[in-house]
Amino acid sequence: MRFLVITDIHGNYTALEAVLEHAGAVDGVWCLGDVIGYGPNPNECVERVAALPNLLCLLGNHDAAALDMLDLNTFNPEARLSIEWTRDQMKSENLAFLEERPQMITIEDMNVTLAHGSPRQPVFEYLLDTRAATENFEYFNTEYCFVGHTHLPVQFHLTDGAYLCGLNIPPVNEVTQLAARAILNPGSVGQPRDRDPRAAYAIFDSEARTWDYRRINYAIEETQKSMQAAGLPERHIQRLEAGW
Ligand code: ZN
Repeated sequence: MRFLVITDIHGNYTALEAVLEHAGAVDGVWCLGDVIGYGPNPNECVERVAALPNLLCLLGNHDAAALDMLDLNTFNPEARLSIEWTRDQMKSENLAFLEERPQMITIEDMNVTLAHGSPRQPVFEYLLDTRAATENFEYFNTEYCFVGHTHLPVQFHLTDGAYLCGLNIPPVNEVTQLAARAILNPGSVGQPRDRDPRAAYAIFDSEARTWDYRRINYAIEETQKSMQAAGLPERHIQRLEAGW
């Protein structure tokens, strides 16, 4: 079966639509959280994701912030501003959807664990380096764990006998044959931070054990225009085209 793996949509409906269209038919969608925050279309994004067939969707830190589950002082002033804006926009039924999101999911029959940040601290931890990633292999039992949160498409591979896991950045638009065990990040749909502004996602094939990592163009200026109209912070508008 083929699963679309998406994360960190961040209210960018234009990017989300482009990804869903480009991905084509899949057997299910696994969304690793942060459907909202930063972008101009939080309600549309929640509604679009919630309606996807065979969906599993986690809670991210921005989703939790909009639900008043977090101390906003943990965010920088501009992020705080957009969280407050997002919170004001949200329809109650869409907040209710976010409120029901689990922090972590183990899919036993696929041998996959899903978390927004990491299996150790599902909502908050950023997996940026091999030391933290290596420690995290102790916190899940499946072959693979899929995470988001850093907005960086990376793969951490733990091989037998190695002291630290390896880190590699997969080549764009290529299929990787996966070896157990690994922690994989598909990159961000709505706010990439690896200096490539294209929307990122992956397709996981559960039989072939492959990771098809893709980047696609979308109408960035459309999202930027809506952000401008909403009065969202200029830095968040500019960073979309820098992918940074
Ligand atoms: Zn995020």
